[in-house]
Order: sequence, then structure tokens, then C-alpha cells
Amino acid sequence: ILCKGYLQDITSRKLAEDNLYRQAHYDQLTNLPNWILLTERLEQALSRFKSESGRLAVLVLDLDHFKRVNESLGHDVGDQVLIDAARRLDRLVGDRDTVARSGGDEFLVLLEGFEGSDYPEAIAHRMIEAFREPFQAERRELVLTASIGLATFPVDGTEARDLIRNADTAMYRAKALGRDGCMAFDQSMVEAVSRQLRLEEALRGALDRGEITVKYQPVIRLPDHRMIGVEALMRWHHPHLGEVSPAEFIPLAEQIGLIDALFDFMTDCVTQDLPKWRSLSRLPLTVSINVSPRQFRNQRFAHDLIQILKQAKLPPSSVKIEITEGVLLSGIECVPDILRELLDHGVGISMDDFGTGYSSLSYLRDYPFTTVKIDQRFIRDVGDDPRALQLVESILGMCDALNIDVVAEGVETKEQVDALIKHGCGFGQGFLFSPAVSADTIEDWLQGEATNGQFTAIDDAELLQQAD
Ligand code: C2E
Ligand code: MG
Ligand code: MG
Repeated sequence: ILCKGYLQDITSRKLAEDNLYRQAHYDQLTNLPNWILLTERLEQALSRFKSESGRLAVLVLDLDHFKRVNESLGHDVGDQVLIDAARRLDRLVGDRDTVARSGGDEFLVLLEGFEGSDYPEAIAHRMIEAFREPFQAERRELVLTASIGLATFPVDGTEARDLIRNADTAMYRAKALGRDGCMAFDQSMVEAVSRQLRLEEALRGALDRGEITVKYQPVIRLPDHRMIGVEALMRWHHPHLGEVSPAEFIPLAEQIGLIDALFDFMTDCVTQDLPKWRSLSRLPLTVSINVSPRQFRNQRFAHDLIQILKQAKLPPSSVKIEITEGVLLSGIECVPDILRELLDHGVGISMDDFGTGYSSLSYLRDYPFTTVKIDQRFIRDVGDDPRALQLVESILGMCDALNIDVVAEGVETKEQVDALIKHGCGFGQGFLFSPAVSADTIEDWLQGEATNGQFTAIDDAELLQQAD
């Protein structure tokens, strides 16, 4: 009895120890190793490599916009997605590799002892592909993507700490470059990431320091070369960083929660400038404003905008909002309601950068767009590439049938204009006509003091002929 009790003691102690070990080295939710175990394995491998040679790589994988899943569908759904993601990733690696969940929606992968030097990238791409299949959660299909950074021993580091940090830097770079991709670390990224941090710092005070302005790019009715509207585009000039493109600072503003303040500034400018212009023009001018996905989280977005227009005594039909596929892909549930509400009040809805996303067509069916803006990459070749022209033609045919206006973006040559007019494209915008200019310049044009020969701003038959 004594002996048996003693044995029982050992077994339960052993079990307790095992349990402790598991708790300290594995992730409870996914049963994957955690970062402690992964770091231990990484350090063991690195110390082995002091006496023998071998290959090794570290991947950092982060789910894109995972917070939205948690926020909009709840943590239970979020957990299900994480478990499924863990399973997908773990299936893809070899026996000697380790997939760990390092916390939140981030995974760390250690690849060891492989032969070909392209193995790590191949695995990374398979991981990205593994996310193509939608996730099933509560009878819904969720499309999620991931961003991956890759660091390889020994070029990107010989210590565990450096390899993980550099893979992390590369992952941030992949995010900054549009997510849903893999980047291999390279020293220049250290600088790029620190630029990101500098921009972030600088952007926080940019509005207060008066560094942000709004410029307006004319939208031209092609058959008579007349300016019928403008697109409002944000500009940021920083004393040290110089001119920073909105393509760079708008996503950043979204990330750090400044997008609403920028939008308020934008509507302030528009409600000041547009009434002046409308009093000068017989054809009522419209202003298009770009709206970011994040702004649709505000359920009162439509209400607020309409209120702003009312206060400025502007008819809602004098404003269009431009959204990209990102808005429709964002998974924000109230998007259709907001669009409907805006439309019911007469605000126009443009689909921006049409043709660059992968499901643009079905969006045309499902959402009430009044205008489609064909992305400039299709317009670029329209003058000399028959296939590009054919594509534009079919977009035009489709929009015609659906009663949607079409604006060609990025028009730079007379040849493009000719081809576009010939195929019935109603509107164009681009450097051929004008880049974005100040509100004062638009006002001058409307007063008939200036035209640049490519279009006219006022109703003047003679000027129209001159422009031809
Ligand atoms: P977008 O809405 O597609 O705007 C058109 C972009 O094409 C503008 O770049 C414009 O300057 C440029 N562009 C116009 N004509 C030509 C041309 O003939 N050739 C070429 N190569 N480019 C041309 P920009 O101003 O740098 O803006 C980039 C993007 O940033 C915009 O793309 C828009 O998505 C975003 N953006 C700008 N302002 C705002 C804003 O106030 N709010 C939000 N959410 N996004 C904004
Ligand atoms: Mg736009
Ligand atoms: Mg565009």
C-alpha cells in the first residue's frame, strides 16, 4: 500500500508537471506552441548551427484587419477563426518546422533544416493561398487575408531576437504595401518603417499646424470639353518631409484614428468653396469627396453629411462620395444602409478605381452606384492597345445599360480623349485637362479669366469652339 501510494504520488506529480509545462509552452486556444516554446526551439537550432551548418528562417504572420471580426461579430467568432487559421497554417509545414501562436492574431513560424533556399518563400505563399478559402463562422463566410514577413539565417540575423524582430519589420512593410502578401526582410525596411513612425508623429499635428489643404481636380464632360464638377483631393505639405501623397497618409490616418478629423476639414473646405462656385456657374457644379472604409463604422455617417450640407444650404445632389472596393470588402454591416440613405437624399455614389478589385462587377449589381470611375491603368493604354480599348468599351456598355455615368480617370493624351468620345464615354478627368488646383483657380476659371485650352469652365460657345 505504501509502495502504491508512493507510485500514485509520482504519477500525479508527473501529471501536474506535464500540465504546467503545457500551460507554459502551448497556446490554450489553438493548442499550437506559444512564442516561448518557439523561441526555445529557435535558440536550440541556432546554437546547433555554431558547430554544424544548416538553414533556418523565421516568419511572422499577422491576420489583416482581424480586429473587425472581433468588433463586428464578437469574440466567439474571432476565436473560431483563429482556431481555423491555426489549423490551416500548421498543415502546411514540415515535421521539423514549428507554427506558434505568439498572441492575438499573430503567428510565428520557424522553418528548420530545409534544403532549397526558396522553401521559406514557398511556404509563405502557400500560407497566403491557404487564406483564399473563406472562413465559415456562424453561417457566414468571412474573407480574411494575412501579411507575412520573412527573415533568414544568417543574412538577416544570427540571434533569435534579431531574426524575430526583422521578420516583424518585414511583416509591417507587407502591411504598409497593401497587406495580403509576403515580404522578405531587407535592411532598407528599417528606414521605411521608421519613416512610417515619423509620418505618424507628424500627421497627428498636421491639421493644427495648417499643413493640410484641399485641392480640386476638374471633371470634364468629354463631348463639349466642359468642366461639370471637381474631385476634392487632400494635400499635405510637411516642412521636412515635403509633399506627402494621400495614398500614403490617408491609410495612416485611418490606422491612427485621424480620418474623421480630416474628413471634417474636407467638408469645411467644400462647404465654403462650393456655394461661391455655384453662384458663378450656370451648369451646377458638383464636388466629389473620397470616403475611407473606416468612416462607415459611423452609423450616422449619412445623417451627419446631409446635416452638414443642409447647414451650408447646399443641395445634397451637389455632392458625390467616392468609395473603393475596400469599403464594400470591409465587412462593416451598415454600408448598404448608409449608401441607400445618401442616395435617397440625392447624394451621388461613385465607385472609384473601377476594375482594380476582384469583384467589381457584382458590386455594380448589389449597390446603388450613380457613377463609375474607370481606373487610370485601363485608360493609360486606350489610345494604342486594342485590348485595353475593348475592356473600356465593355465597361461603357454595361454602365450604359445600368444607367450609370462613367468617368475615365487619368486622361493624359488627346488620343485617349478621342478614343473615349468615340466609344461614348461621358466624362473624363486627368492631367491633360488639369491636375488638382486651388479653390481660387477654380473660381478664376468660372469667372472666365482663364482656361487652359483643353476645356472651358464657363458657358461660352466661342470658348468651346476655341477649345476644339
Ligand atoms: P483617387 O480618388 O483615385 O484620385 C485620383 C488620383 O489620380 C489623384 O491622386 C490624382 O492626382 C491622380 N491623377 C489625376 N489625373 C491623373 C493623370 O492624368 N495621371 C496620373 N498619373 N494621375 C492622375 P492623389 O491626389 O495623389 O490621390 C491618391 C488617392 O488618395 C486618391 O485616389 C484617393 O483614393 C486618396 N485620397 C485623396 N484625397 C483623399 C481624401 O480626402 N479622403 C480619402 N479618403 N482619400 C483621399
Ligand atoms: Mg477618387
Ligand atoms: Mg481613382
